[in-house]
Amino acid sequence: MIDTIALAQKLIRCPSVTPADGGALDVLVGALQPLGFSCHRLRFEESGTPGVENLYARLGAASPHFCFAGHSDVVPPGEGWAQSPFSATILDDVLYGRGAADMKSALAAFIAAAERVLANGPPKGSISLLITGDEEGPAINGTAKLLAWLEARGERIDHCVVGEPTSVAHAGDTLKIGRRGSINFQVTVTGVQGHVGYPQKAVNPIPALASLVTQLGAQHLDKGNAHFDPSTLAFTSMDVGNPATNVIPGEARAAFNIRFNDKHTPESLTNWVTDKADRLAEESGCRIEISAKTSGVSFLTAPGKFTQLISDTVAGLTGQAPFFSTSGGTSDARFIKDVCPVVELGLAGATMHKADECVPVAEINALTDIYAAILSAYFAKPPL
Ligand SMILES: [Zn+2]
Repeated sequence: MIDTIALAQKLIRCPSVTPADGGALDVLVGALQPLGFSCHRLRFEESGTPGVENLYARLGAASPHFCFAGHSDVVPPGEGWAQSPFSATILDDVLYGRGAADMKSALAAFIAAAERVLANGPPKGSISLLITGDEEGPAINGTAKLLAWLEARGERIDHCVVGEPTSVAHAGDTLKIGRRGSINFQVTVTGVQGHVGYPQKAVNPIPALASLVTQLGAQHLDKGNAHFDPSTLAFTSMDVGNPATNVIPGEARAAFNIRFNDKHTPESLTNWVTDKADRLAEESGCRIEISAKTSGVSFLTAPGKFTQLISDTVAGLTGQAPFFSTSGGTSDARFIKDVCPVVELGLAGATMHKADECVPVAEINALTDIYAAILSAYFAKPPL
């Protein structure tokens, strides 16, 4: 039998700070192959980005196809650790190390869960693991390319659980059924530079920018809905950078971020901002340029058979159904949502990315029980 905690420790001892693999995929393959998984190691590269190792492992060829997605890379340890970040020390039944919460322990939990379920015979369908080494980095040579590779091979995933540390206090208390999208805007207002004593000969970009900032900042984007909080807009910068007291500057800039729910798209938001800017440009005589960069679109896996199966299973084990949430930043589920229904379920994430990242051993064992019960329930009655 796989020792879940020992496997988690082995993974943490691989210093797989993105884009390094640190031996983590060897550990995963070493645990999965004896269970009968066919393992495909895939190195993706793209000019200007570091090459990254990824892993796709599948057992069975039939549908339904249940996929567990996650990442083997970690963020840099940073400073201030009492425990060495890659020693995987257990102290008072708590496992310490970079990746303990996010998300090497969840990888170990799922593999141990799969072993437990396979002990009762092969599943009536397929189980796969889609593991990227590029989640904490630019996410260019990871999940997106893995999914394209799968599509090219004609492999179809029916349902996916991402093992991100999405819980609040205990494993399984929260189920992420979606995420808000994120888009960054840069605004550049260009007027005509001039002498402060002759403002009529200049076109001052500052009042125009101030007005645009006020208008955008005052707008309520929406009221939210049953699954999402209201979308939010936050300014992050407003610059003129003019050291002179007698010069009207020629240019002023601002930047802001919008976290948006499923009532918006990057296009609808960009159109909204551009409309306001165009109107103000006409009024002020300034030129206003808007540039936008989307880092993730919003998505929602609408509550249905799949989310119900997970909710019922967790409730059966812990006595409490998970809270359905769409809060937080983006994850690789933003790519998987284009392929199949996807949710995120994992450990409590309070210490992720922090010094002394840690997780109680009991929580890893509880998550293993949850994953095993989900697999059993899934193949007993597929939510198709
Ligand atoms: Zn993560």
